Amino acid sequence: MLNEKIDDVLADLVDTEAEWHNFLQILHSLIPGSTFEIWKKGGERVAIKPILELPSEIEQGLSRQVKGSQPVFVGKIEGAPLYGTLIQGKRIFLLGLMPEELGRAGLSSLVVRLLNNAIESANQKLEMQDLELENQQLFRKIEALKSQHTKLLEDNYSQYLLLQEKEKEYSRKLEKEIASKTSRLREANERLREASRLKSEFLANMSHELRTPMNAIVGFSDLLTETSLDRDQKDYVKTICNASDSLLTLINGILDLAKIEAGKMEVENKPFDLKKLVKDVIALFSVSTRGKNVELNCLIDGSMPAQLIGDANRLRQVLVNLVGNAMKFTAMGRVELHAQIVKKTKKKYWVAFSVLDTGIGIPEERQKAIFDKFIQADGSTTRRYGGSGLGLAISQQLVKLMGGFIELQSVPGEGSVFNFTLPLAIGSQTAAKVGNEKQVEADISSKMSELDVALEVLLVEDNPVNQKLASILLRRQGCNVMIANDGEEAIAFIKKHCFDLVLMDIQMPNLDGIAATKLIRNLEGDQDIMKEAETAIANL
Ligand code: ADP
Repeated sequence: MLNEKIDDVLADLVDTEAEWHNFLQILHSLIPGSTFEIWKKGGERVAIKPILELPSEIEQGLSRQVKGSQPVFVGKIEGAPLYGTLIQGKRIFLLGLMPEELGRAGLSSLVVRLLNNAIESANQKLEMQDLELENQQLFRKIEALKSQHTKLLEDNYSQYLLLQEKEKEYSRKLEKEIASKTSRLREANERLREASRLKSEFLANMSHELRTPMNAIVGFSDLLTETSLDRDQKDYVKTICNASDSLLTLINGILDLAKIEAGKMEVENKPFDLKKLVKDVIALFSVSTRGKNVELNCLIDGSMPAQLIGDANRLRQVLVNLVGNAMKFTAMGRVELHAQIVKKTKKKYWVAFSVLDTGIGIPEERQKAIFDKFIQADGSTTRRYGGSGLGLAISQQLVKLMGGFIELQSVPGEGSVFNFTLPLAIGSQTAAKVGNEKQVEADISSKMSELDVALEVLLVEDNPVNQKLASILLRRQGCNVMIANDGEEAIAFIKKHCFDLVLMDIQMPNLDGIAATKLIRNLEGDQDIMKEAETAIANL
């Protein structure tokens, strides 16, 4: 009951003097005959009625006690003074009840306990209030922290969004930059490719210009060897012949490669005798086995058909290069050229070609690079064996153009094997009408020996040196030669004379060789031959 009342009082307790007054009143009613009062810090009494008259010595003692400390709470029970103080604002505790006063007052220990309990209870309530306040403050703090936290989160999020936006912006910029750099690179690449194509095209077109003077040097040096010369002169001319042969080989290699790179090299599909071709290649090198301890042989599949269709010239070029290398790099042992059928259908044969030798071999680390242009096995190769490092690059490209792939197996000190397989259609019995230069040469000799008369030849050529060389060579073969300086002159001659053979240059002023040939064929009315001639010319 008492606790409830105190609870009621404390429930409404606010830190004001009126509330204190109320509190004291109620305490007073709880303990009949008691009085209570409040003393503030510094000994000043709070004016709350009823004011207890304290004996002066106690009042002084109290004043001393509370000076510099917290407000004091004092009560009196049945005439006996009771001391208390407030600390931390509201906290109440009992200072003490003098024992003699306790006795004097005749207070029962029950009443004292009651008072103590009441004050303890009040203390606890106040403490609770404090805690509640603290709690509220903490709650407010938590709320503030929460809102701060939320704000921080929001801030972070907006920073994150900002960062993301910046990142996006940055990556957009980067992408843009990369795209523009890529397009610039692409353009540069395109320009480079175009420049390289133009270079290759230029070289391919220069073929004529480069070969013409070289032919003159080779041709006239050859003619010179047949004149009467003293020993020294003969030696000089031989040196010129060898040097010009090497230079012509090099020029031909560079021009072939330029033509391949310019995409101007086309392979033709014509019937040819593969057995004969292989034997011819071997025959070409049989001279170089003399004085060398090297056996040169070929092995051709027994079921090789008489005719296959392909590009005999390009195949010969590859085989000559491979066998030539094998001979060059083999001091003793053997060099072999194999042609084996590895697969056949009704229309096609796959022929595997191998050129093997027991020569110096190629170190493993150089085997891949050896097919790159201008690459040789090592730096000393050129000094010891000569060569330009173009042969294998050209061979690889030619094999690729013919539908094959060239491979190498080699062991240094033991030898090398170059392999490639070509698909070749099975030939019909009709041979090509348009032959190569060698065939033309053979045709001329056979016709001449058949007829035993001088052939009437029209040489259409604008270059005076070539005119001179060709006419000398033709006349030495017993031909009657007339010279036309361009296509127009040639047409004029043909209209007036009858020729057994017309040797036509391609690039000439006024009317070029192709246009002139077309007109001549039109005059003759043979369209088929004209078409074949055009293809042959395009492949030159
Ligand atoms: P070249 O023979 O004119 O130098 P190639 O492209 O034909 O150019 O050959 C490139 C290089 O590959 C040669 O210089 C040589 O070092 C090496 N090589 C080619 N064939 C052989 C071989 N059969 N044996 C050893 N080395 C070879």
